Amino acid sequence: MPRCEGHYTLETSRCPNEGDHEMKAAEGDVYPLCEYHADAVWTTTVARWHGETDLRASASVELQAQAREPAFVW
Ligand SMILES: [Zn+2]
Repeated sequence: MPRCEGHYTLETSRCPNEGDHEMKAAEGDVYPLCEYHADAVWTTTVARWHGETDLRASASVELQAQAREPAFVW
């Protein structure tokens, strides 16, 4: 199973969990994410990494825009 490619917006370290969910990011690519990061779309950004290491191979990308709609409408 691939490793989760998510990390917290305010942190630069990679998530240590297994990525058993697939989520599409804002630029259209699909990333493996753990259950926590697949749910936390408001605070999660994703990136490409060098294999299973903590070395980032790309800039951070936000998760898909349609998952960021407001929770309620005035
Ligand atoms: Zn994760």
